[in-house]
Amino acid sequence: MSAASVIFLLAFAAAVWWFTRNVRRIRRNILLGRDIDRTDRPKERWALMAKVALGQSKMVVRPVAGILHILVYAGFIIINIEVLEIIIDGIFGTHRVFSFLGGFYDFLIGSFEVLAVLTWLGCAIFLARRFIVRIPRFWSREMTLWPRTDAGLILTFEILLMSAFLLMNAADHTLQGMGVGHYVIAGAFPVSGLLADWFGFANLEPATLIGIERICWWFHIIGILGFLNYLPYSKHFHILLAFPNVWYSKLKPKTRMSDMPRITAEVKSMLDPALPPPPPPAAPAPGMPPEHFGAKDVFDLTWKSLMDAYTCTECGRCTSVCPANITGKLLSPRKIVMDTRDRLQEVGQVIDKKGKWEDDGKDLFSRISEEELWACTTCNACTQACPVNIDPVEIILEMRRYLVMEQSKPSPSLNAMFTTIENNGAAWAFGPDQRMKWSEE
Ligand code: SF4
Ligand code: SF4
Repeated sequence: MSAASVIFLLAFAAAVWWFTRNVRRIRRNILLGRDIDRTDRPKERWALMAKVALGQSKMVVRPVAGILHILVYAGFIIINIEVLEIIIDGIFGTHRVFSFLGGFYDFLIGSFEVLAVLTWLGCAIFLARRFIVRIPRFWSREMTLWPRTDAGLILTFEILLMSAFLLMNAADHTLQGMGVGHYVIAGAFPVSGLLADWFGFANLEPATLIGIERICWWFHIIGILGFLNYLPYSKHFHILLAFPNVWYSKLKPKTRMSDMPRITAEVKSMLDPALPPPPPPAAPAPGMPPEHFGAKDVFDLTWKSLMDAYTCTECGRCTSVCPANITGKLLSPRKIVMDTRDRLQEVGQVIDKKGKWEDDGKDLFSRISEEELWACTTCNACTQACPVNIDPVEIILEMRRYLVMEQSKPSPSLNAMFTTIENNGAAWAFGPDQRMKWSEE
């Protein structure tokens, strides 16, 4: 085995190890959430995943961004099929090992090149929309330095990867034409052939061309391994989580809150004395905390809400349709999801450092204010708009439930309603005996 193959194998193994380690940590963090069963109606779930995640049906609601995203996504995924060939070549020191596929190989390489150009252009337009046109949803309050840098980094990185791929092919194509050994005649080069002419590669020495080809080859593969390991630190982790996240979507009507059967029975018996009160809850097991309601911290949310948090693409589509945000309130559903993810990361870091969870004196309310929570109208426009079926309202409602049921801190308008329910058994300031009075008028 050559020295290059050994270096390649070591880099590849290190990248896979580090990526696996980070993915396991994210999985562990997600599983810190409460259990919830989201496996009912599997056929519906597969269909939803095919439509929303694979078909990107919600992305194309905004056609320009949607089509560009499909180009970048498809281009990146399909071109990386070629990585399989690079890995085999890297390990065994071969060159274009799949060239035995003949005409089909030519077709593959040719179409990869066209996709590479489209991906390159898509990324360049995305960069311009963010940093030159400065579309407002990419510059709002929660889009602080890191989210903006993250988006810029990944787009620049994809442009560099595609450029390296095309330059590598341009040098390879020229070397094939010169009949340099090792560079077997294989592939079609509709784009890199033009680039080779443009850069005058035919005038370069074979040694220089081999240098260009090798540098681009290494840059391409090391770049892809680096990209893989960047994903767990970035919003681009949605590339991996979008599919399962959509599969585990809430299939019930979006506006339906999670049930609390015992509390419902208590309220019903309070409103109707004919109904017996439910039995009191069982005492907690020794050493276990008493039953509590709603969400104070990430542990109180379901694992699905935590997976939502890691899947967020930070696109801001939810916030751009949120009536509370549009009318100048503090609430941004994107911020709610990003704050949940950041808190979950913080909790994960404590566990990594100390080997187990130790209270750090913080919780979700350290990041999300009551003003934000009470500004939500529960219209679910955000959930509807989200391209990866994230449900920010679930988090908002659980945190409100905690405020009301654990802290006795409802919003002032709810307080008035609670009083009338207690006094009159109705949300209005009239007794039940007057309920049908309207019909007499
Ligand atoms: S449900 Fe709440 S957060 Fe979502 S769009 Fe409506 S008001 Fe905004
Ligand atoms: S919650 Fe959905 S719509 Fe909102 S920013 Fe995240 S991915 Fe985009």
